[in-house]
Amino acid sequence: MSKVKAAVCHEFGAPLVIEDIELRAPEMGEVEVTLDAVAICHSDISYWEGGFGGALPAVYGHEAAGRVTGVGAAVQGFELGDSVAVTLIRACGHCNSCGSGKPTICETRYDGTKGPLTTAEGDPMFQGLATGAFAEKVVVDQSQIVKIPVDMGKDVASLLSCGVITGVGAAVNAAGIRPGQDVVVIGAGGVGLNAIQGARIAGARRIVAVDMNADKLEAAKEFGATDGVLASEAKPWNAVKKLLGRGADAVLVTVGIAPVYDVAPRYIGNGGKVIMVGMPHFDKTATYSPLIMADIGQGIIGSKMGDVVIKRDIPWMVDLYQQGRLKLDELISGRWSLDQINEAIADTKTGAARRNVIVFDHG
Ligand SMILES: [Zn+2]
Ligand SMILES: [Zn+2]
Repeated sequence: MSKVKAAVCHEFGAPLVIEDIELRAPEMGEVEVTLDAVAICHSDISYWEGGFGGALPAVYGHEAAGRVTGVGAAVQGFELGDSVAVTLIRACGHCNSCGSGKPTICETRYDGTKGPLTTAEGDPMFQGLATGAFAEKVVVDQSQIVKIPVDMGKDVASLLSCGVITGVGAAVNAAGIRPGQDVVVIGAGGVGLNAIQGARIAGARRIVAVDMNADKLEAAKEFGATDGVLASEAKPWNAVKKLLGRGADAVLVTVGIAPVYDVAPRYIGNGGKVIMVGMPHFDKTATYSPLIMADIGQGIIGSKMGDVVIKRDIPWMVDLYQQGRLKLDELISGRWSLDQINEAIADTKTGAARRNVIVFDHG
């Protein structure tokens, strides 16, 4: 057991409380990672708002990087002192999905109430998103971490653990974009900018960003968008089709807003597909026309965490970053201490931020 400072959610939507919690030592197959950085993702905010359910009290946070400071039995390939990215992708390795090379949809459910966290009084505490990274240290399964170069900044490395792999992976793995295809990315925020980078890396012809904010459309061009269309226009899909000459081959929805899903199929052409990346709250639904979609061979595909295999995909993303072909530094819009986490969340909720990163001072 060790005492760890964490930002704890006691009540959905109420400010997180900075307090000491208890973290048990790593057991079979687990590692302890002392965190240097954790970014704030919209999924953390949805959990904090109660939009995804889950038990309380809870510690959220899942887009992290740090150093291995504890190794449980039967851990292979990691040693004390390794620099690692820490993700929420906990994979059992033996279910149908894991066996099919799809660890992001592992079928073995993890119960965060039986995880390594307890309150200072010894009561159960929910390890949010199988990670609980709004804390100085985490204990996670070895399947959730990947080694990163020791000289890579942990603030930028933390982004690889969710926003970057989710966006780039949605373009490269889920949409399977081929050179010359046309792509629309709805939402030019933290994940959307990475979907745009992924489409560029995959060799797309036109990459059209769609967002409510004109400044974000301009910024999207730094990441590879060739065009921008304001979502506030009447029927923005018509402007997109005019730019492309037809509907898109792939539309990546990177915002968790149900009405956006209602209209997303309107942007795709014959044979095109919608990739569902952004996650609305659990009580929201969307509608579409099965007739049209069946008639012209369209599809809708869910993509969790960019369908990545982290030990395959994070190393190549690190390499592209080091070559200057994948932007990470430009994704960080603010650095905060753990004590400032409520301000950082409020700033993220305005929608203006790219990624806000909590940086730990182990002084
Ligand atoms: Zn996330
Ligand atoms: Zn599995």
